[in-house]
Amino acid sequence: MQDLFVNGRWVGSSGSAPGRVILNPYDGSQLRTVSEASDEDVDNAVGAARSAFDDGPWRSTSARERGTLLRSIAALLVRDREDIARIESLDTGKTLAEGRIDVDDVVAVFEYYAGLADADAGRVVDTGNPDVVSRVVHEPVGVCALIAPWNYPLLQLSWKVAPALAAGNTVVIKPSEVTPLSTIHLVKLADEAGIPPGVVNLLLGSGPDVGSSLVSHPGVDLVSFTGGLATGKKIMALAAADVKRVALELGGKNPNVVFADANFDTAVDYALAAAFLHSGQVCSAGSRLIVQDSIHDRFVAELARRADAIRLGNGLDDTTECGPLVSSEHRAKVERYIEVAVDEGARLVTGGHRPDDPELADGYFLRPTVFADCRSGMSIVRDEVFGPVVTVERFETEADAVRLANDTEYGLAGAVWTSDASVAQRVATALRHGTVWINDYHPYVPQAEWGGFGKSGVGRELGPSGLDEYREAKHIYQNIRPAPMRWFTGATDG
Ligand code: NAD
Repeated sequence: MQDLFVNGRWVGSSGSAPGRVILNPYDGSQLRTVSEASDEDVDNAVGAARSAFDDGPWRSTSARERGTLLRSIAALLVRDREDIARIESLDTGKTLAEGRIDVDDVVAVFEYYAGLADADAGRVVDTGNPDVVSRVVHEPVGVCALIAPWNYPLLQLSWKVAPALAAGNTVVIKPSEVTPLSTIHLVKLADEAGIPPGVVNLLLGSGPDVGSSLVSHPGVDLVSFTGGLATGKKIMALAAADVKRVALELGGKNPNVVFADANFDTAVDYALAAAFLHSGQVCSAGSRLIVQDSIHDRFVAELARRADAIRLGNGLDDTTECGPLVSSEHRAKVERYIEVAVDEGARLVTGGHRPDDPELADGYFLRPTVFADCRSGMSIVRDEVFGPVVTVERFETEADAVRLANDTEYGLAGAVWTSDASVAQRVATALRHGTVWINDYHPYVPQAEWGGFGKSGVGRELGPSGLDEYREAKHIYQNIRPAPMRWFTGATDG
């Protein structure tokens, strides 16, 4: 049974809940059994993080030392790259190639925040008074609860844990109960790198039990959460009771706008990657294609032809292009969305069913699915489906395209495809989304902020803002030549 990590030690759960069996979504086989934390474990983990922050040596480490620790973790991640990529593939179903890219991205994030840790010691403020020294400094927020989803278990966590540690916080990590294995490995590496006891703690278990008791714990100062909108709302409400700092990275229903003058083959190729990478289980998936009238029919036909050719299989197999969905429950949810879409009048162009291949029968597979004749009101267009499903809407004018692209409660990411640079810039400016790609889809870099407008979230990860989430700004104002102020003169006059 896999233990929890509390105060620098691997410990079994103090509760009586049976361990949780982690399944391989490719064939439903059992990967490992992990402990389920109890309320007492939550209390112990937060207590350890609290003491390490309030009283431990961590408080006096320099930013440079913290940067060095982050670099050591990055080096260990590089050493274990292949093992971790394999774990991520087994646990999530993604391909090994994607798993390797994830690890490389995680390394880049640790290295980026290692570099930023001591890059900015605050600023001196010019008060106009030569007898005053005034400066704004950064301080860590305190104990941070870091709650991560199952689609990019290690990557999403790295966006939190690297800046949190760089800023000098202590953390309690709660990975998704569906995919905890790569996170367990990361915590082992943090321990190996020499992170002091209590600075990094790991709780395993369900969201409604372990997650919510962590978020509600009075010893937590900040909650950083990546996951679904419904959970995000609950977390914000729980955190409000103590006015905890909250950062939320939630879902998306991301528009991918294709103008008729775009390079046709490239736009189709990227539309596939935007929608079907990791079986569409990507917060920024280009799940709403918005295509100009004059190329619409040809675009849909070519998209469907190529979607039909996507090879599903075991993520560990080199020839596999798409793995399964993460769980049988999640696949059932996506299948319900497909049924409702048909009922609501969307035209199923291809997919919409499980693969015929008997070798895939035990896994949670679904064929890449294309719906045309979609309209804004349909639930398949409105809701985040988080599966291999893309809807196609058509537009005539640039204004129509922008209106459709912004017609969502979310605002995470979107793309525009055109060979006209001024159209590209105008549309990119008009889109109410946190990331806009022009003639590209999906790339992100640790140096640039990531996050959502609207209900896609609160705050930003990555970039300098991703570090600011974990820092308090403090103004220190020193009068170096104090003298009586004489504002109230009554007593002195008397
Ligand atoms: P989820 O909301 O079900 O769970 C996310 C995490 O929250 C898990 O660790 C879960 O155990 C925990 N949790 C669940 N209920 C909780 C509660 N009441 N209190 C505290 N914690 C709780 O999300 P998921 O299904 O794991 O992930 C998919 C979602 O994540 C999608 O909506 C996707 O768009 C979103 N996501 C967003 C980004 C982004 O950058 N904006 C990135 C990746 C995933």
